[in-house]
Amino acid sequence: MKILVINAGSSSLKYQLYNMTDETVLASGRVERIGMDSSIVTHEPADKPEVRHVSEILDHTTAVKRVIDMLTDAEHGVLHNMNEIDAVGHRIVHGGETFKDSVVVNQEVKLEIKRLFDLAPLHNPAHMMGINAVEANLPNVPQVVVFDTAFHQTMPRTSYLYPIPTVLYNRHKVRRYGFHGTSHKYVSSQASAFLGQPLEQLKMVSCHIGNGASCTAILDGKSFDTSMGMTPLEGLMMGTRSGDLDPAIVPYVMNKEELTLNEVNSMLNKHSGMLAVSGLSSDMREVEQAMNEGDSRAKLAFDMYVYRLRKYIGAYAAGMNGIDVLLFTAGVGENSSTLRRAVCEGLTFLGIELDEERNSVRSKETRYISADSSKVKVLVVPTNEELLIARDTYELVQRKQNS
Ligand code: ADP
Repeated sequence: MKILVINAGSSSLKYQLYNMTDETVLASGRVERIGMDSSIVTHEPADKPEVRHVSEILDHTTAVKRVIDMLTDAEHGVLHNMNEIDAVGHRIVHGGETFKDSVVVNQEVKLEIKRLFDLAPLHNPAHMMGINAVEANLPNVPQVVVFDTAFHQTMPRTSYLYPIPTVLYNRHKVRRYGFHGTSHKYVSSQASAFLGQPLEQLKMVSCHIGNGASCTAILDGKSFDTSMGMTPLEGLMMGTRSGDLDPAIVPYVMNKEELTLNEVNSMLNKHSGMLAVSGLSSDMREVEQAMNEGDSRAKLAFDMYVYRLRKYIGAYAAGMNGIDVLLFTAGVGENSSTLRRAVCEGLTFLGIELDEERNSVRSKETRYISADSSKVKVLVVPTNEELLIARDTYELVQRKQNS
């Protein structure tokens, strides 16, 4: 079975084509600048050179058509024709309280995703354009939606409710949803397989540290608490997002600086975090480099980033009354040995002992970075959200065909 995985944004669309027989990626790519002039399609077949096309792509339906054209192209393609695409899996940011798992798309599912537009106004409408675009180009191909929030639907009320008037939850569903669920689910099950221990028997803290960052406590094999909240702004300090702050700062700053809601939203999401404190960059590589060259603002940004992450790990260890496994994933978590060392150095009280040599190894494999004597196993687990989307799609479509 061949499965196309799509991540549709408002002006971009990323794709990967999987052969599920051996879970290999046959081709991947992206369409950028949809709806603008000079849209760019970058197509990377597994065994052929990358190609780039610049043309006008005004909407998502045309974008999906171009992707299919690329996949079936005589020279750059990997398929004979589009009938070889058996199913399509979509990444969807927000599944609200309705979607506790991935589902096959039908009219009802589409209506529900639409109802959730309010909760993810930047993301869900774009995902819906992706679903409709596939429907227009591949009308008989089953589609599956995989939600970033779904894994966290197991959180108890003590974790997901905010201590504000209950009417806000009842009327507007104001609560913690959490994000990066696909990644936390994937890496926690990889870690359990690597350790040869059932997930249900491990108290785990999973740190997905990329541009966006979140930390999840996994207890009895389920998400027990997570640092992102009703939106991805809450929790850890991130590349450009502030993470946790005193909510009273918002009206105070709006008043003092005469900011609108949009402006303050943009300040906290796009102009805060590592970028604001370092005054330099949201990119961890650049911050680390500047810090090594003696830049004091970069050092402060790095130290704050580490401190805030360490506090969450400690909080979740307390929340679960213990921790057996700490794992790092995503761009920073997988690649920055400096970050991992700095975080773990302050957690020796939990029984965390890093092995310096293991920590400095660069690899794309799941691996230990803790010492053999460490009470808590510390792992680096490369994430692969697309693969999990492809697996869920495969499983659901097979189940549907067999029923
Ligand atoms: P996104 O949230 O956009 O998916 P990624 O998971 O790709 O983000 O992570 C991007 C981040 O990973 C960037 O801040 C980048 O600096 C960081 N990163 C990538 N490689 C390294 C590295 N070798 N050392 C430190 N940080 C790195």
